[in-house]
Amino acid sequence: MPPRFRPLIPLTLLLAALLIMAAGPTTPMPGPVHIIGNSAGGCIQGAVRLPDDAPGLQTVRVGKSNFWGHPDTIARLLQLARTASAAGFPDLYMGDLSNPRGGPMPGGHVSHQMGIDADVYLDVNPHPRLPFAARENLEPPSLVRPDGRSVDQSRWRPEHAALLRMATELPGVDRVLVNAAIKKQLCSTVTGDRAWLRMVRPWYGHASHMHISFLCPAGQPDCPPRPAPPPPGDGCDASLQWWFDRLDAPPKPAPPVTKPPRPPALPAACIAMLKAP
Ligand SMILES: [Zn+2]
Repeated sequence: MPPRFRPLIPLTLLLAALLIMAAGPTTPMPGPVHIIGNSAGGCIQGAVRLPDDAPGLQTVRVGKSNFWGHPDTIARLLQLARTASAAGFPDLYMGDLSNPRGGPMPGGHVSHQMGIDADVYLDVNPHPRLPFAARENLEPPSLVRPDGRSVDQSRWRPEHAALLRMATELPGVDRVLVNAAIKKQLCSTVTGDRAWLRMVRPWYGHASHMHISFLCPAGQPDCPPRPAPPPPGDGCDASLQWWFDRLDAPPKPAPPVTKPPRPPALPAACIAMLKAP
């Protein structure tokens, strides 16, 4: 019988170690709160963690997500949860914020790297406080029909609009990103005060959660400015129609490039922070 290969370290342990290394440091960088960033992304020192259970909220997918952010971000999310709870909403399911020191997240998004972005699930159906194991694979259903042109009216509730409005009214919000079909639904149904619609902007995906993007907190000179603020108006205009036009005419493939552009690099201070023990 041929000798069997026996790795010195069990493969499962090796895999777990590799995953931890790929995910970066598991502790925040100690020190005063300091956000550093550029167009490639960024990092944060002195981040604090959103509690897994707080009045009006539960974190979900704890094994896959990260819940660290600037103290102002955490305070505002706790405030949103309290406001929603007082208005009779079930616990908000909280998704990704940032890694303990920020930096790149799975999926390669430039956002979520500096502790000032948060994903909140758009689930307004009554639900109990779940044990951690039951939250691990929680994936609220998409509110958008498969063709991407409108919301699923069997799932959409006026409470979704109310929750989005609450998010736009938090202090320091830059914008709230949702699928274009959700924005279209707001455009065609919100009556009365529509000023808050300006802050809700269409983006790719985001069919079952909203992405709350906060402005750089005060006293953070190394936090790169956010994109230009949303233009005046409710955004129910050609900028929204663009998302539906592209469903009819997908963008042409880009011409071949002879030399791939060099991807922008994180600030050196961030690379050092993410490598530090
Ligand atoms: Zn997000």
